[in-house]
Amino acid sequence: MNYRDTRDASRQVSFKTAVLQGMDPVTGGLYIPSEIPALSASFLFRNTPPSFRDIAFEAAKPFVAGEIPDSELMAIIADAYPFTAPVSPIDPTTYVLELFHGPTCAFKDFGARFMARMMAYFNKGEDKMLHILVATSGDTGSAVGSAFHNVPGIDVTILYPAGKISLIQEKQLSTFDGNVRAISVAGTFDDCQKLVKTAFTDETLRAKLRLSSANSINISRLLPQSFYYIYGSLLIRERCRYDCKIDNPSLIVTVPSGNFGNLTSGLMAKQMGAPIRGFIAATNSNRTIPDWLSDGDYRARPSVSTLSNAMDVGAPSNYERLSALYSLDEARRLIAGYWLDDEGTMKAVRSCHDRTGYIIDPHGAVAWRAWDDIRSGAMKSLLDGTTVPAGKPGLCGTAATAPEWAQDCADKKCVGMILETAHPAKFGETVKKATGRDPTLPERLERVLSLPDRSIPMDADYDQFKDWLLENLE
Ligand SMILES: *Cc1c(COP(=O)(O)O)cnc(C)c1O
Repeated sequence: MNYRDTRDASRQVSFKTAVLQGMDPVTGGLYIPSEIPALSASFLFRNTPPSFRDIAFEAAKPFVAGEIPDSELMAIIADAYPFTAPVSPIDPTTYVLELFHGPTCAFKDFGARFMARMMAYFNKGEDKMLHILVATSGDTGSAVGSAFHNVPGIDVTILYPAGKISLIQEKQLSTFDGNVRAISVAGTFDDCQKLVKTAFTDETLRAKLRLSSANSINISRLLPQSFYYIYGSLLIRERCRYDCKIDNPSLIVTVPSGNFGNLTSGLMAKQMGAPIRGFIAATNSNRTIPDWLSDGDYRARPSVSTLSNAMDVGAPSNYERLSALYSLDEARRLIAGYWLDDEGTMKAVRSCHDRTGYIIDPHGAVAWRAWDDIRSGAMKSLLDGTTVPAGKPGLCGTAATAPEWAQDCADKKCVGMILETAHPAKFGETVKKATGRDPTLPERLERVLSLPDRSIPMDADYDQFKDWLLENLE
């Protein structure tokens, strides 16, 4: 399979190059697969739905064909996914796909663990160490650190803004040992990102060290995220025969979004044959994509901080892929846009708990509220001509921009799958304020709280950072 550049379709590379390069070094574009082949119906729709690992293997195969042998791919998948994505029904037409059962309790584990193994595979036989540098404002750093922990031939240096992330996130980052270490920078996330970017363009540094990045634009983080959409949609298709009395329900997936990697993976899963009818792109006040879907105008903007901070993105990097894969009209036919402010998010955590008993984190809560509002009247009102006033949270757009599944939704023929992207205990303070309940910390989070802080304090100063890299990496 070839991968093409979003900015110049004539520039095509192998999977290996796409993984190791991250983005096109000349155009600055991102890589997308040159085709998205469908899985066979006989595989997808057999009597008992296939296991998560079987799906992962079959779905990944065409994307690495000719570059990774089947037996290796199978071993990589088994090693990457000792956990799956359980589906939890919370009312007769709503299911939560829990994506927080990996080691760092956020959905980024699915992408990071696959990417780490792809890089390690393609790095075999190199005699020089590959050094990954990553700047993080929270979840990405711990997922990447954990995914590369103890991977031979590769080490990871994570930069995070000291005191500007949650206590648990800081603990997760600062307690790595071995080939992963964290630098706590006296500065902001932007300072961290600038240090990393400057290092990548520093010729003297690059002459001495093999450097690579592990950010969310890497195609090998996107592909594996399609696995759980296929898995979840097949399970729900099977279950909802018993749970709801709707013939042939249309499955609508609600994705709490920031950089829109997750939603892009969902669209790919649909093309691969997952029985999904449509999507809801749910954001917090960073509503660049819902606005684009509704008025057709893409306007990147500075990010605003919210309670669902992993979605605080004003210039989503995967807009580049979305708009290369789909025209605005195609996107509108599939996706409804919805956004929620912090007040609404707080209320959503509370009412999800009150009405269903399910404790949801602030990111999942944005998705739950979007689905619940849309199915219980917002879509019908939109089709009847009532639009949400400009600048107010809710379902975006007009009857003319409504997705092709809107009428089914208004007629209550849809079933929803909410993606829960983080464990509620990672955002325990907000959850407690909203519900009065303290979500129990999973054992793997509890454990990091007692580990010693090994982070390396540093100023936001490039010379200091460079000296440190030259002295400590080889
Ligand atoms: C990263 C993240 C998101 C946003 O995912 P994108 O792929 O960037 O849209 C949502 N929720 C959580 C908990 C995250 O860590």
